[in-house]
Amino acid sequence: MNAYDSARMADVLAPIGFAATEVIEEADMVILNTCHIREKAEDKVFSELGRLALLKKRRAEEGRKTVVAVAGCVAQAAGEEILRRQPAVDIVVGPQAYHRLPELVARATRATGGVLDTDFPVETKFDRLPDESVGRGAVAFLTVQEGCDKFCAFCVVPYTRGAEYSRPIADIEAEAGRLVALGAREIVLLGQNVNAYRGPGPDGDAWSLARLIRRLARIDGLARLRFTTSHPRDMGDDLIAAFGEEAKLMPFLHLPVQSGSDRVLAAMNRRHTAEAYLRLVERLRAARPDIALSSDFIVGHPGESEADHRASLDLLRAVGFASAYSFAYSARPGTPAAAAPDQVPDEVKERRLQEVQTLILEGARAFNAACIGRRLDVLFDREGRRPGQRLGKSQYLQSVHVLEEAPEGVVTPVEIVGATAVSLEGRLASPQAAIAA
Ligand code: SAH
Ligand code: SF4
Repeated sequence: MNAYDSARMADVLAPIGFAATEVIEEADMVILNTCHIREKAEDKVFSELGRLALLKKRRAEEGRKTVVAVAGCVAQAAGEEILRRQPAVDIVVGPQAYHRLPELVARATRATGGVLDTDFPVETKFDRLPDESVGRGAVAFLTVQEGCDKFCAFCVVPYTRGAEYSRPIADIEAEAGRLVALGAREIVLLGQNVNAYRGPGPDGDAWSLARLIRRLARIDGLARLRFTTSHPRDMGDDLIAAFGEEAKLMPFLHLPVQSGSDRVLAAMNRRHTAEAYLRLVERLRAARPDIALSSDFIVGHPGESEADHRASLDLLRAVGFASAYSFAYSARPGTPAAAAPDQVPDEVKERRLQEVQTLILEGARAFNAACIGRRLDVLFDREGRRPGQRLGKSQYLQSVHVLEEAPEGVVTPVEIVGATAVSLEGRLASPQAAIAA
């Protein structure tokens, strides 16, 4: 979502003369788009700001001004503190207010201190953002839903991103159409709780995510749709069915479970059991037998015992995820879990994290190895690190690289010849097939 927001900030700033640069020393303005989900992400912001303060000073000595802005959820949660701790910061702007950046830039150049805008304005930013000014490549993100009303005990999102909000179907359809016209072939629909999407449709009813997907699938030139991130409780029947029915919806689902222990799931306020999650997995596989699943796990949530931890390992083995993320629990100020008395010691979290990660890696390696000898559909969208190497994604969201001229933005059949836990190696199945696709 931050990648999408950053692209939108570039769209907002283009009309007043800013364009993106890869060279930070050349930047007249630097925006740090920040994440508050775990403490480490927040710490990085302050160390990065220290480096930017030095850069700003060096440029000032050469007579060049640098505007330093902090955006995103750290700005939202700790805006005042940022301005107090780092005088080099000119602008602090929350995730709901970045459509006001041009005005904030103007104010910052007049003001002596930093300016702060962390409002949740009544007008939504989506109504104020200009059309996309540049293409985002063959794979584009599109935010359809923001905020969260779930209040999991460990999570800051409901506080930094605010209440759930779904964009109207017509607006999303128009944006998707523009992205495809600018070269997108795959669109990833984004939301903190994307499958809770309930947006006003053209008929005035509230439409589900499944209906939105079916609508977008009609766009000519769009080959693939994905969505992230989903909550198990909002996995509706029509969305599960869509995996079997909608050819453009890719057979991959990121479905965070967080823990395999019912006791911990209850403490987390996730409002589902491990059993319910496993049943959901069965239903997804019934709808789309080859669906690849991924998840998020938190280890060391307050109160997590050794038996609870083993239940997470059991669930990991039972599902057989294609990939997954895992995190050591990080106490976030203001959340209920941060105040819980039974915090788990760091060294215990660290050891449990290792155990979870070992299993995740084993699963990913097995899933990828099983693809050797198969023919997968790959959408190439970038250069690899090695000269002549092309990178793309399979239908199961695996990274696939080839050492050939692969057509960018075309879904191409690829023979898989090698696999690691994180990527696949392939050869174009046949040049004719690539051109015909
Ligand atoms: N909306 C999604 C997840 C959003 S946050 C969901 O409901 O699952 C992305 C991931 O960060 C979460 O799935 C969780 O695994 C992790 N996370 C969130 N808060 C955390 C915390 N306080 N400590 C460690 N990991 C956390
Ligand atoms: Fe955070 Fe996701 Fe829970 Fe919402 S549903 S509170 S975003 S973990």
